[in-house]
Amino acid sequence: MGDPRSMTSATDTTKPRMPEEPADRDVDIVEVAPRDGLQNDPALLSTDQKIGLITRSVAAGIRRIEVASFVNPKRVPQMADAEAVLEGLPGPDSPQRLGAAWIGLVLNARGFERAQRTAVDEINLVVMVTDTFSQKNQGMTTEESIATVESVVPLAQAAGLRTSVTMSASFGCPYEGEVPVARVADVAGRLALTGVDEIAVADTIGVAVPRDVARRMAAVKAVTGRTQLRVHVHNTRNTGYASALAAYEAGVRVLDSSLGGIGGCPFAPRATGNIATEDLVFALERSGVNTGLDLDELIRTSDWLGEQLGRPTPALVSKAGPFPPA
Ligand code: ZN
Repeated sequence: MGDPRSMTSATDTTKPRMPEEPADRDVDIVEVAPRDGLQNDPALLSTDQKIGLITRSVAAGIRRIEVASFVNPKRVPQMADAEAVLEGLPGPDSPQRLGAAWIGLVLNARGFERAQRTAVDEINLVVMVTDTFSQKNQGMTTEESIATVESVVPLAQAAGLRTSVTMSASFGCPYEGEVPVARVADVAGRLALTGVDEIAVADTIGVAVPRDVARRMAAVKAVTGRTQLRVHVHNTRNTGYASALAAYEAGVRVLDSSLGGIGGCPFAPRATGNIATEDLVFALERSGVNTGLDLDELIRTSDWLGEQLGRPTPALVSKAGPFPPA
């Protein structure tokens, strides 16, 4: 329910494309630790540890979660067990599933072929907003990458999968520097025309501040019609939480975060990357925004994750504890 385009879509789907609108929350937090969090991590977690992370996240109330990426295992060895992870996750009727949707990252038609043979509910594609970043990362221009989205989205939707696309480097580029708002809006408008169910605007290098979020999301909203919008920010320069709250203020109702704040900083190896789920939940809940998540359970899961990784995570609320104290 909720997706206006599913009514007019030419493709016939066998299962609903949008997860059921959760009545128990004002904002939907997408957990990215098992994929974005782990993909650059020096620790190589086992398939069972990843499944443990995913099921613990679901038990804490997470309803959408990046569980794997279907990319070249030679390039990303941490994600080589994508199929095995999906194989080991609770099925749709399992009491552990709680209606959660599994998201798989794919970069091209080949990745989609792999993903659709698994139990994923949703595929997440990626478009780099600048040509230099796109060439270096995916060996193609932004334009060519949009063409990939154009070809994969209908195939995925015909297979009954929900689709989302992440616009990387929407707030700044590691190679080109400043990224004009007009460029971001142009790419977003083109992506909306592909019929993709959701567009995630991402601050890949962690330079966004609240004013950038407000301006960019207004520009993106103006050209994307009723496509659902989502924001992915990093805390690389300590502005991630302010930016996430600004996204909520700007009307965005889907936010990404990573338990413990792990991962997400391939361009600054010593820096923090993703915002932490428990810290984001604390900030939102204290602001009167219902996340539907269990903060105590998130903190326990974050502590558990730190033990699996063999080091403390960057998150702060899991160290300081919730407030007021229990
Ligand atoms: Zn990230």
